[in-house]
Amino acid sequence: MISRAAVIHGLNQPFVIEEVEWDDPREDEVAVRVAACGVCYSDYHAVNGDYPMTYPAVLGHEGVGIVEQVGEKVTRVKPGDKIVMSWMPSCGHCPSCVSGQGQLCDRGARLLSGERDDGSNRLKGRKGQNITQFSFLSGFSEYVVIPEDGCIPLDSDIDLIKVPVVGCRAPTGIGAVINTAQVEPGSTALVVGLGGVGFNVIQGLKLAGAHLIIAADIVDKKQWAMDWGATHYIDSSRKDIVEEVVKITGIGVDYAFDAIGRGDVQSACVAATHKGGRTVWVGVAPHTQKSVDLDAMNMTLYQKTAGGTCYGGASPFEMVPQIMRLYRSGIVKLDQLITKYYSLDQINDAFADMLAGKNISGCIRMD
Ligand SMILES: [Zn+2]
Ligand SMILES: [Zn+2]
Repeated sequence: MISRAAVIHGLNQPFVIEEVEWDDPREDEVAVRVAACGVCYSDYHAVNGDYPMTYPAVLGHEGVGIVEQVGEKVTRVKPGDKIVMSWMPSCGHCPSCVSGQGQLCDRGARLLSGERDDGSNRLKGRKGQNITQFSFLSGFSEYVVIPEDGCIPLDSDIDLIKVPVVGCRAPTGIGAVINTAQVEPGSTALVVGLGGVGFNVIQGLKLAGAHLIIAADIVDKKQWAMDWGATHYIDSSRKDIVEEVVKITGIGVDYAFDAIGRGDVQSACVAATHKGGRTVWVGVAPHTQKSVDLDAMNMTLYQKTAGGTCYGGASPFEMVPQIMRLYRSGIVKLDQLITKYYSLDQINDAFADMLAGKNISGCIRMD
């Protein structure tokens, strides 16, 4: 199938809208007409070299759409179904999947190449050259072919355009709080980096009943942060995060969340916690960063912990339906996280606006 897609041909190159060619779905694959795909900072990691990518590539990992065609062995979805496309397929039978940790599925070994298990590629250019299918998805394409085990069905009455963030940012941010940190009611917390993930960390902290939510960013997002439930805001372009947290709390916070993925922020988050504090690194650091600067003595004597979380620390097949239920009951917001829609042709503007901090979340819509 020929489709229009935003192709990136090399490191830090702009996207070019061109025709690409998708294989017909194999027996365990699903062809999907994409309705919308969020523009998430992880896509930019695949532009700027933070991830070791092979180009050309089609990015986009926060997609929703309608199933168009299914392979003969597919049972999870059928043509006409509305689905979220998980950027981490869950095979259901590897050790991580059977222990309920589908976000760590063995399929992740091919996450950046998107190849099939036999090493072949679903996506090609019009001259037959391979194109990388980022995260098994490549949602910046009007049509995609994805593995069946990346398909999460949605209710038929859902307005797809409103919910693409449930494919990445909402489970990642909310799950970091609920599943990974396991924040208790009345806790104090810091979140650094207010992109779509950071605002979902704030949503998660509100859900968990946090008493004090300190948000920090170098771009002025104070009003948005306070509207979403932060109790304090630090302009970290001018002020030291750790000093400000100590000023506000006296002793530091119970929990800290790095929603950027940068060494200095990862280390500041740990320093901002007090004794027994728990830090969760939510943002993905560049693959070239091999260490984090920590006060090792304090880690032990103050019994601090720090660790990562992937896709919110739970299987997307568990979290996405959970978040959709919370969205339907009005407890979690999804559509309000999207502050601007762009056409596929405007994708370079969408990335420029993300880097300038103009949106909570930008989203490409295909119609
Ligand atoms: Zn698996
Ligand atoms: Zn993402």
